[in-house]
Amino acid sequence: MKDKIILDGTRVATDVKEKLKARVDHLKNVGVTPCLATILVGNDPSSATYVRMKGNACEKLGINSKRIHLPEETTTEELLAVINELNQDSEVHGILLQHPVPNHIDERKAFETIDIEKDVDGVTSLGYGQTALGFGMYPSCTPAAIIAIMDYYGIEAQGKHAVVVGRSPILGKPVSALLLNRNATVTTCHSYTENLADHIGSADLVVAAVGKPNFIQGEWLKEGAVVLDAGYNKGNIGDVDYEACLEKASAITPVPGGVGPVTISMLLKHTVEAAEKKVKEISMN
Ligand code: NAP
Repeated sequence: MKDKIILDGTRVATDVKEKLKARVDHLKNVGVTPCLATILVGNDPSSATYVRMKGNACEKLGINSKRIHLPEETTTEELLAVINELNQDSEVHGILLQHPVPNHIDERKAFETIDIEKDVDGVTSLGYGQTALGFGMYPSCTPAAIIAIMDYYGIEAQGKHAVVVGRSPILGKPVSALLLNRNATVTTCHSYTENLADHIGSADLVVAAVGKPNFIQGEWLKEGAVVLDAGYNKGNIGDVDYEACLEKASAITPVPGGVGPVTISMLLKHTVEAAEKKVKEISMN
């Protein structure tokens, strides 16, 4: 039996961050410190943890983090005003609006207000459209992380049948687009998909983006399939039944320690790239 590969996201993230360090130092040498602004609205403890983790990861790499915490009762207009201010702030290179925002806020309107140049989390419809057409600057971070893991381990998408389970705007749809751009034949499944197990059974590559713990069953998989689990559910549980899928897969991401850590490193990468782009524009003027 061939060895199974555990796709180690922590290792991939470390590699990404090590390479970024030199780029951050170079930017600092020309007088620019990359800066990510994070906006947290309300007091949801998980959102607060995620934002803190992202801010801390920035600072560890020498990237500035401007942390904005708005009260739960913030209106859509107030949030838009804060985003517009950050759009105008030349010291800020990337903007991350932690989602979900409280229900009374028009989240889509808030996302669309983020300047495309600063949309390092890939949440605007323009960013998504550009990603789908293959020239996007900053795809949303979890899809980018999945591609980064594949690249690190030399997993080819071309000609392969990729089945993505989930079609959310930040995950399922953009990862389907990225895989299609890599010349995979992509099937995107969702809650109305019939015969899901049959689709998965014909996949060379399975991306789980469902939001349901242990949802993807080992017996559904084709022998030797590659399994990328983007899921992150309560209790550190992925969307894939890991032990059962490990039996069949040739390569698989664990949860935790798979897609999650790489997602944060993609946010850092996009912020550095946004700062580099600004420096290039200034030097050309
Ligand atoms: P979401 O917006 O809730 O989308 C879930 C998708 O799964 C929907 O498209 C839904 O279909 C589909 N689905 C639900 N039940 C299904 C079923 N029985 N069969 C087939 N498809 C089904 O979730 P999300 O934001 O994309 O997140 C998905 C998972 O990724 C979650 O576990 C989340 O925590 C995780 N996540 C991880 C990271 C990270 O950094 N690792 C980042 C973001 C999200 P419909 O469209 O028909 O409703």
